[in-house]
Amino acid sequence: MRKGSLFVVSAPAGCGKDTILNELFKRTDKAGYAVSATTRAPREGEVNGVHYHFLTREEFERKIAKKEVLEYTEYCGNYYGTLSKSVNDLLEQGKDAVLKIEVEGAMNIKKAFPKACLVFILPPSWEVLEKRLRDRGTETEDKIVERTNQARREVEFAANYDYLIVNDDLSEAVDDLLAVFRAERLRRVRNDELLKRFK
Ligand code: 5GP
Repeated sequence: MRKGSLFVVSAPAGCGKDTILNELFKRTDKAGYAVSATTRAPREGEVNGVHYHFLTREEFERKIAKKEVLEYTEYCGNYYGTLSKSVNDLLEQGKDAVLKIEVEGAMNIKKAFPKACLVFILPPSWEVLEKRLRDRGTETEDKIVERTNQARREVEFAANYDYLIVNDDLSEAVDDLLAVFRAERLRRVRNDELLKRFK
């Protein structure tokens, strides 16, 4: 059976990363979401084991000590980390593992797994991103400025990614991401087993 590959998807808040990935998983069963662990509190509607594995700081630190996390970071005062088990379970089923992680985690994954494919989702423009954050209606003006500044810092890392997708039209962005997955699956470097059959 073909072994899956590692994909990383990053985007600043407000770029539609969650919506794009939800649509993607409706349209393909060849890839699965590698559920991360975090110490932040669950938001309304979030389910333990589905959106995140919600852990206490002690539990998280124990997992670090036992080397059960591939990478982790502290983001806004909370730990976030990729669990080796989440990734391995998917790869062993022959599925691609999708990590939805921030830029520093992405850089660490690329260092540890040079074959990992990194995808960065961009907004159509800074103006559109700001408007999207405002239209959510859930944030104060200070928070919007903070998130926009954070987004500018994150976009600086986009130069290190393999693919850039602009989320202007949702369905087009999902098509683009599916195209990236498909092209990456066909790369010769991921298919040496296939060539062996023709020796
Ligand atoms: P949120 O709290 O909004 O769910 O996530 C905050 C940020 O942490 C997002 O950019 C998200 O992609 C990132 N994140 C989620 N899980 C992980 C992880 O396992 N590792 C790293 N490095 N970042 C993560």
